[in-house]
Amino acid sequence: MKYSIVIFILVFCTLKINAQNLNNVQFPEMIRPQVRKEISIPDIPEYLTLKCDFHMHTVFSDGIVWPEVRVDEAWREGLDVIAITDHIENQPSKKFISGDHNSSFELAQKEAEVKNIILIHAGEITRSMPPGHLNALFITDANKLDVEGAEDALKEAKKQGAFIIWNHPGWKAQQPDTCLLMPMHEDFLRKGLINGIEVFNEKEYYPVTLDWCLKRKIAVIGTSDIHDITSMIYDLVNSHRPMTLVFAKSRTLESVKEAMFSNRTVAYFGNMLAGPEYLLNEIFKASVKIRSTGHSDEDKQDLFEVSNTSAIQYVIDFGSDDKLTLQPGASVIIPSNNMLRGEIKIVNLLTGTNQCLHTKFSFQN
Ligand SMILES: [Zn+2]
Ligand SMILES: [Zn+2]
Repeated sequence: MKYSIVIFILVFCTLKINAQNLNNVQFPEMIRPQVRKEISIPDIPEYLTLKCDFHMHTVFSDGIVWPEVRVDEAWREGLDVIAITDHIENQPSKKFISGDHNSSFELAQKEAEVKNIILIHAGEITRSMPPGHLNALFITDANKLDVEGAEDALKEAKKQGAFIIWNHPGWKAQQPDTCLLMPMHEDFLRKGLINGIEVFNEKEYYPVTLDWCLKRKIAVIGTSDIHDITSMIYDLVNSHRPMTLVFAKSRTLESVKEAMFSNRTVAYFGNMLAGPEYLLNEIFKASVKIRSTGHSDEDKQDLFEVSNTSAIQYVIDFGSDDKLTLQPGASVIIPSNNMLRGEIKIVNLLTGTNQCLHTKFSFQN
């Protein structure tokens, strides 16, 4: 009996293999599909909401990936814009890799075109504190930033039309105790040599810097500063890498630059958004709708449906310990009460170092 089963299996397998090309049998089901995970954050009146990461490294400085990989990651993770910001002054792999400070941009350009990712030519000017590290974006030749003095490098970047970000101001390797706005930073701010500050870098939030940006009217920035492969560092299934939302007139490099110089930016990290109050209010209004949905005879109350069409989870505080966590892409039905008409606080939308967004629901018919 056993013998006949073996014969049957052998004959069956032989028949199956004979039906195929014996030189090359394909297993396409083993290959991971090329899928982009869209992050649904609504546009706001007059502007498109673009998802951007302005700080990352490749093998051309102290990162571990080839430049094209950065573009592919960005596409898979739903981003619109990236800047590869290899250190001008730190290239530990130089012994193995030739090229210059423009190479990572040049190598990533083709892939960015194919994947429809806006690629910003950039570089990281790297000094001890002060001034620390600064990213120059929208430059035309990174090699010219390779000069002795930090201010000279920044001035050269400015000559090329750069937008300059002060990176990780509270990074413990340079600022072990606290975040400090030193006289040199004040001087650079006065001279227009700092146009934005990273309030968030990699996994660190520097709350005090949010007020610095908002009071001085410079851009609020959140970045990954990724050196490894993003999926090795971030939970990309349940969350996203840190990024900057830019509110641009169109999906072009010029519009991104115009929006950044106009401070239309918000840092998005974990479940938090940090930035100017009017922008956070617009995002909330575009994400969350409320409408009357009927009447509960049992409770003798009107019912309202609150819908969140965005990927952002909103934590709404009605005051007096009444909180509602509105999940991404979810609607809830809640009974009418005076709280729905009054002022609400959105706990995870940060409008200052110690404050969050205060707003109201806009009712629809
Ligand atoms: Zn740095
Ligand atoms: Zn960096």
